[in-house]
Amino acid sequence: MSMENLYQQIILDHYKNPRNFGEVIGCTSSVEHENPLCGDQIRVAVHVSDGKIDDVKFSGKGCAISQASASMMTETVKGRPVEDAVRIVEQFRQMMRGEREFEALDEAGEMEALKGVMQFPVRIKCAVLAWNALESCIHAAEEAK
Ligand code: ZN
Repeated sequence: MSMENLYQQIILDHYKNPRNFGEVIGCTSSVEHENPLCGDQIRVAVHVSDGKIDDVKFSGKGCAISQASASMMTETVKGRPVEDAVRIVEQFRQMMRGEREFEALDEAGEMEALKGVMQFPVRIKCAVLAWNALESCIHAAEEAK
């Protein structure tokens, strides 16, 4: 199997079976971001306690890349300290812009599949949508304190 096919399969798997999809009951904050260029919508909700992201879920609709990236984002940051998550979001954006070496930050290493998106500059907005939403959501959670 070629690398491209493998990447495609991982993205389709997350698209069809999104991880951490839904609402967080009693969430600390939730925000919605849109990517009008593609019609993607992502809502991210977090529950923060003791400076840690206890729970994070997303919901929304849009292209496979936006939804798969959201699914991978939740797997990557769930259970992490808030400051780690903030750092990871920035790292992810830099990787997608080609400003730093791409590395999978999730335990499963499936994020590697998003590296393939870099070949399609218009789709990078789809890939970073959920991560930007997470960042806003964390800011909203800090203000809610
Ligand atoms: Zn999209």
